[in-house]
Amino acid sequence: MNCSECHREIDERSNFCSYCGVRLRPMFSHRRLMRSATDSKIAGVCGGLAEYLGVDSTIVRLFWAILAVVPGGIVGGIVAYLVAWVIVPKAPLPVPAAIQAKPTPAG
Ligand SMILES: [Zn+2]
Repeated sequence: MNCSECHREIDERSNFCSYCGVRLRPMFSHRRLMRSATDSKIAGVCGGLAEYLGVDSTIVRLFWAILAVVPGGIVGGIVAYLVAWVIVPKAPLPVPAAIQAKPTPAG
């Protein structure tokens, strides 16, 4: 891979050019780990995690459920869920077009 600024050969996996320091990749992808506002059973943790990982939310829930069944995992699974609930921000609800249009006050 060549640097776009100084055109020197740099490591394929590096995020910055080691010669001129220019950023070679976007800092983060557009994806952010958030609790899903639309795909949620309890707090949207599994739905958000599924969106982030790009997998079906059912698979994440199933995995979480299996994790909770493992001896000693029940507490761990619940604690992990509660921790994720607190830490992971809630994604904003998609606002339907009908609510965005403000109704004119009658009378
Ligand atoms: Zn460079």
